[in-house]
Amino acid sequence: MTPEEFRTQGHAMIDWIVDYLAGVGDHRVQPAIEPGAVRAALPVSPPTEPEPFDRVFADFESIILPATTHWQHPSFFAYFPANSSFPSILGELLSAGLGVNGMSWVTSPAATELETHVLDWMVELLGLPDAFRSTSERGGGVIQATASEATLTSILAARWKAMGGSINSSAVGLERLVAHSSAQAHSSIEKGLRIAGIGTERIRWIDTDDQFAMKPEALAEAIAADRAAGLVPFWVCATLGTTSSTAFDPLPAIGRIARTEGLWLHADGDERDPATLAPEFRWINHGMEFADSYCTNPHKWMGVNFDCDLFWTRDRGALLGALSILPEYLRSTAAEAGAAIDYRDWGIPLGRRFRALKLWFVLRCTGVAATQEMLRRHVALAQELATWVATDERFEIVAPHPVNLVCFRLLDDPDGARTDALIERANATGDALFTRTVLAGRSALRSRSVLATERTHVEAGWTLLQRLADEV
Ligand code: PLP
Repeated sequence: MTPEEFRTQGHAMIDWIVDYLAGVGDHRVQPAIEPGAVRAALPVSPPTEPEPFDRVFADFESIILPATTHWQHPSFFAYFPANSSFPSILGELLSAGLGVNGMSWVTSPAATELETHVLDWMVELLGLPDAFRSTSERGGGVIQATASEATLTSILAARWKAMGGSINSSAVGLERLVAHSSAQAHSSIEKGLRIAGIGTERIRWIDTDDQFAMKPEALAEAIAADRAAGLVPFWVCATLGTTSSTAFDPLPAIGRIARTEGLWLHADGDERDPATLAPEFRWINHGMEFADSYCTNPHKWMGVNFDCDLFWTRDRGALLGALSILPEYLRSTAAEAGAAIDYRDWGIPLGRRFRALKLWFVLRCTGVAATQEMLRRHVALAQELATWVATDERFEIVAPHPVNLVCFRLLDDPDGARTDALIERANATGDALFTRTVLAGRSALRSRSVLATERTHVEAGWTLLQRLADEV
């Protein structure tokens, strides 16, 4: 592709994105295709000669687009609001254009320093403890790709600390470490612990209360039982907004236990915590002064497209202890003088994309007030949906809904089969997309809004469910 072709196609591509997003609601939310259909439409072997871009793009429109789930669709009520926005897309484009690898300060000073700076901005905007700031004595923040990576990073730092600053020879062997988390925690917690060598038999899934939040007294009991068995509790995870139902584990109570017991406390704020941009939702972060590490995902509810997970710790020493390796080819005088951060030591991969650009663009171009307004609108839509559900005697709400997610099910449905069928039938129409979960042993439907969702879409989604409720 020549520079002039790139210019022409690039302009056309921006036009295409603008038109796509304007009309995204005209697509089926989820394509009605069978597994294997996309591959069957593609040539078995790769091309041997370059092809004109127009031909490639024609295939994109005829093969890829019809098989795409439209996450920006206003009736995408599923999973989480993984939204892009124009400033974010432009930041992403520039990041690709610059093509820098921000593995260390010297490989692109701007990538590192902008990242440090926007993470400090976010400490202020989310009302987080000063101990997370890069300017604090021992803390700091970094952008990870995902909450899963942030969690793993936290586990590795905690493991390093628990093993006395070693992962090879230590008085406390890996085989004695145990971790604690709520039974409602995300699967990434188990995955991280498995990767870190903590066997699944040494993960304690702590009971939750009738609101699906961790019971601190059950945590204390589990820790005591582990100690009595000669094991060493080292890491506990509190979820601030569980995946299934947005339950908030009681961070202050868990934090006090973690502090008394000398455990590393990780707070998984994943997708609900961008809400704390609005002061009325700051209660979510109560107890954060106890957290050793914390993560939240602007790529889930702030209009910053995937991937952008923010991770902070108050103990960067443990992070560096666990993850820093310095081969000759990565040495730099700036880092050795302690004058610069090398983010390659703050996470799993060496190579790092320039993700701070898109967050910076969103913070500056969309602005905090508009983001707060969007968050409040989503919460209001959820509350309105909840009142509609509550007044239909065929349905019941199954979990508290303090933020943007409502979980409900059909009432006359002892084995959950009708609720499952309802979700399946609604999704099959292509007019809306909901996800299923299981709460208290029974199926439930989850619904929440995305950036493009208006009241009319929520209303239409609810009307669809009401209509199908009598048919399942
Ligand atoms: N933690 C919670 C509470 C989640 O809901 C999710 C995903 O939905 C994750 C972690 C994992 O997120 P990611 O895809 O960023 O790894």
